[in-house]
Amino acid sequence: MTAQDTPALFQERERRNNLTTFDTLLERNQDFAAHHFLKDLSMMPNLRIMIIGCVDPRVDPAHVLGLGLGDAIVIRNIGGRVTPATLETIGMLGGIAQRAGGGPPTGFHLIVLQHTHCGIAHLEGQTDMLASYFGIDQEEVAAQAVTNPHAAVAVDVAALKATLTLPESWLVSGLVYDVTTGQIEVVVPPAPQSHAERPA
Ligand SMILES: [Zn+2]
Repeated sequence: MTAQDTPALFQERERRNNLTTFDTLLERNQDFAAHHFLKDLSMMPNLRIMIIGCVDPRVDPAHVLGLGLGDAIVIRNIGGRVTPATLETIGMLGGIAQRAGGGPPTGFHLIVLQHTHCGIAHLEGQTDMLASYFGIDQEEVAAQAVTNPHAAVAVDVAALKATLTLPESWLVSGLVYDVTTGQIEVVVPPAPQSHAERPA
């Protein structure tokens, strides 16, 4: 907003900018449909990968993992966290796979991809909001480690292994992407559910 701008002029310019962006997106789609569209892709991902990642625009799995169209199922939410909604989505995907004919797919890899400098850290202290998000009591929120992606990714891999019933051929892993370097660290190496640590 410049010195001469009235609030109304500022709003008008912002609205025009948004419409220009929208037009650009539609033009890009025309280019995609003409040059990059792949016909007859399957709903079943090419790479047998399901990624749980963050909505942050810096950490799009298609870019940071070099995925192509049809390669992977991607579930994105705040933080790339395992929440009741995440588990519901995974359960519904299983229902779709069964009804689409095939039964549970074999050889799938479930990857939790979290990242450094995640916005969810700003919600530390918003105990009500976080308890609701994770479907837990307020006293349990600290254990979700929202300010520490390395701890959080381990918590979430453990939660997936404890909650889901996965075929033995499935792998689960946990990664942390560094937004300052572009590099990914393997925090929880790929392992089947049976390798989950059992309580003594
Ligand atoms: Zn994030």
